[in-house]
Amino acid sequence: MKTNRVVVVQCRLSSTRLPQKALKMLGQKPVLAWVLQSMRKVNADRYFVATDFDSYDSIKPVCDQNGFECFKGDLNDVLKRFCDLLRTLNCKTVIRATADNPFLFYEAAEESCKDFEARNNSGMKCDYLTWSGLPHGSGVEIFSSDSLLKAEGLTSDSYDHEHVGPALYNHKNIFNCVFVKAPHRFYFPELRTTIDTKSDFLRACQIVNSVETEGKKTAGASAPFSTEQIVHAATSAFVNHPVVLVPSVTKGHGTGHLHRCLSAASKNPYFVYIPADKTLEETDSLIAQYKNQGLKDFQIIDFLPDETYRPIIITDSFELTKAQIEAFKNCRALISIDEGSEFSSYCDYLLDIIPSFNLTREANLCEPDFMEKPENKKSSKAENAQIKKVLVCLGGEDPSGLTHPAVESLSKCFPASKITAIIAAQSERFAREAENVEFIKPVPNLKEHLFEYDLVVTHYGLTAFEAMYAGCAVILLPTTKLHKNLAQKYNFAYVADTNITEVGIKIACESENLYPSFNNGYSQNKNIDDFLKVLASGEHYTCPVCQNTPVVPDKIVSRNISRTYRRCQTCGMLYMSFSTDVQSNYTKSYFFEDYKKQYGKTYQEDFESIKAQGMRRLSIISALFMGNLRDKNSFDIGCAYGPFMQAASELGLNAFGTDISEDAVKYVQTQLRFPATISQFPLIDVTGEFGISQFDIVTMWYVIEHFRNLDSVLSKVSEITKKGGIFAFSTPSGEGVSIKTDARAFFKNSPADHFTIWEPSGAAKILKKYGFEVVKIVSTGHHPERFPEIKNSGAKPGSIIWKITDFKSRQLKLGDTFEIYCRKK
Ligand SMILES: [Zn+2]
Repeated sequence: MKTNRVVVVQCRLSSTRLPQKALKMLGQKPVLAWVLQSMRKVNADRYFVATDFDSYDSIKPVCDQNGFECFKGDLNDVLKRFCDLLRTLNCKTVIRATADNPFLFYEAAEESCKDFEARNNSGMKCDYLTWSGLPHGSGVEIFSSDSLLKAEGLTSDSYDHEHVGPALYNHKNIFNCVFVKAPHRFYFPELRTTIDTKSDFLRACQIVNSVETEGKKTAGASAPFSTEQIVHAATSAFVNHPVVLVPSVTKGHGTGHLHRCLSAASKNPYFVYIPADKTLEETDSLIAQYKNQGLKDFQIIDFLPDETYRPIIITDSFELTKAQIEAFKNCRALISIDEGSEFSSYCDYLLDIIPSFNLTREANLCEPDFMEKPENKKSSKAENAQIKKVLVCLGGEDPSGLTHPAVESLSKCFPASKITAIIAAQSERFAREAENVEFIKPVPNLKEHLFEYDLVVTHYGLTAFEAMYAGCAVILLPTTKLHKNLAQKYNFAYVADTNITEVGIKIACESENLYPSFNNGYSQNKNIDDFLKVLASGEHYTCPVCQNTPVVPDKIVSRNISRTYRRCQTCGMLYMSFSTDVQSNYTKSYFFEDYKKQYGKTYQEDFESIKAQGMRRLSIISALFMGNLRDKNSFDIGCAYGPFMQAASELGLNAFGTDISEDAVKYVQTQLRFPATISQFPLIDVTGEFGISQFDIVTMWYVIEHFRNLDSVLSKVSEITKKGGIFAFSTPSGEGVSIKTDARAFFKNSPADHFTIWEPSGAAKILKKYGFEVVKIVSTGHHPERFPEIKNSGAKPGSIIWKITDFKSRQLKLGDTFEIYCRKK
């Protein structure tokens, strides 16, 4: 049946940002083929690609394969090209798409075209229509052929001629152009599916990969993706949170780093960044090897995604360089494995696999079980009793130049043994050729060959541990400044002197640590891939007050397995700067199951005691108002089930409240009958909700630490507090007994949704910024049992020492929580 429609896909190959993008392979087919296959799903009489003269020959075959005719015209005057094509046709309606959009919503295209036709059929003349709010790159334009031909004659504007739609919609006085909000099913304005840049192309590859991995059954090779498939993929974690692994591909660092990254990427859709200036010779052959194991072409990249596609960067590069730090500036988080440079404070997360002796920094996690152990091992130690075969392995280039002296001494020590040394450059003559010595080139997958040797002579690093796991005797040579400390700490035999002598080797051979056994606990293999997946879900945060990214990173306060804490250099706030924990969303379970887990009873069961706390707090506030509370307006932010509001009301205050929890607010409204509203503070219009723009008293009890956007929260509090009014809050203390006796445990136990840790001594400076003057600080949460003297003595409540400790806690304000009362200036 004749539709009077024509589909026109506009295509050129001369894009400056991404040349030839229409022909780039996206999954199994070129980008253009994706576009054409989608548009073939839209009903029309004829299907065209409109291209320029130069591109014609290259794209014609793709058009032929996909049932499109190919029309060539002017390169720069796109409007003319379009109109030249339309002049050869006799059609009413044009559906226009562009060749950089492989994930078009063809169903939306069909529906919006029907919308356009219905409007015209009902007498509402419509010249141009498009649906707005589709993902950027999934929409089409519909217009009348006659209208466009008319528009061409009316405009000489160069912008109008470089494009098509503007000739109509930039002239709304002449043409009736409508932008219709897309139906819910297609409405995803936050998504981006177009391919304009290299980063966009990476995202597109991830979308294809995601759909193909998830729905093997449905995605046929020639079928375009459905709306649901595109949306599902485009909103998935792997597409939205790209991960770029950055292995060392520097000659001399070994192939272990690259192995580890390629292995992880062959199991998960991570990108692996291989810069063009790589120097590691084995790089290409290793990549080829992993491609046989499932690694896909698109995963190997030679550039980093830009700020429109911010990745999590995971470096496995031995030592970060200043240039890398600069290049990683815009990433979503920087995670580094075995990082040994001076730049480790830039890292949001530090994972040590090879135990480090770097005392200047703390790692978030040290996990030697992530080391991939050799499969080939010596069967028993007895076999090692005699040293017949020795391997010297100091890295291909041997930058410290110890290979030759070591070989010389070893050949004297073990005249009847075979000494094998790995060295990249064989040209250099060995000073004294000995018959029992051979030099070989670096061995691929060395770790599986180590068991063939009785003694491995190396430096502190991966090979040392692998040799240990393979059951070999191991001697470490002093290639780094820290070698001796490291060797001692992890119980390796070592030669201490850089001058390697026969005597030195002999002494090392007599060491009880010649057959190191690092720690029996470290015998199992743990899978690093699963852990990387957890880290890749991580998020980096800036200071919630200042919300800036300083040039020099804020000082690290604590690192633990799931989080990192820093101190802001501007305002002094302690804050969570990285977390892998998913943020709580304060549903009903927060107040029931989760609360119970943390405090042993549900929030509601605790109602009366929290209300009593409220009474005590109100007596402090009352004193600040000279005892006059009656009819004052108080506003409790994070009011939960309303215990404080209840207390305030009983003292004659007008109690207002807000909470993010629907269930809690409903309870306050219907059971307690107080005015309360659901809001995500500071997104609330108090005047609209309560008819009050400023309150006498604003309170937040154990709420303030939950805000990531503390600056806007405090600004809003300041705005809604009357001059002379009181703002009071309670929060865990960063100066209490718990943090003072065991800071590491304190931060580890700090709830995952506490973004800030307030310190009584630093609060005034921060609050002043928002117009508040601190008038009273109360140390609360006194727990004598958390003091070392009680822990050590086992003293019971009621004992003298308990009472003294309790007194001390109160006197020295060592409570684990505190309350701040401040006055709006
Ligand atoms: Zn700050």
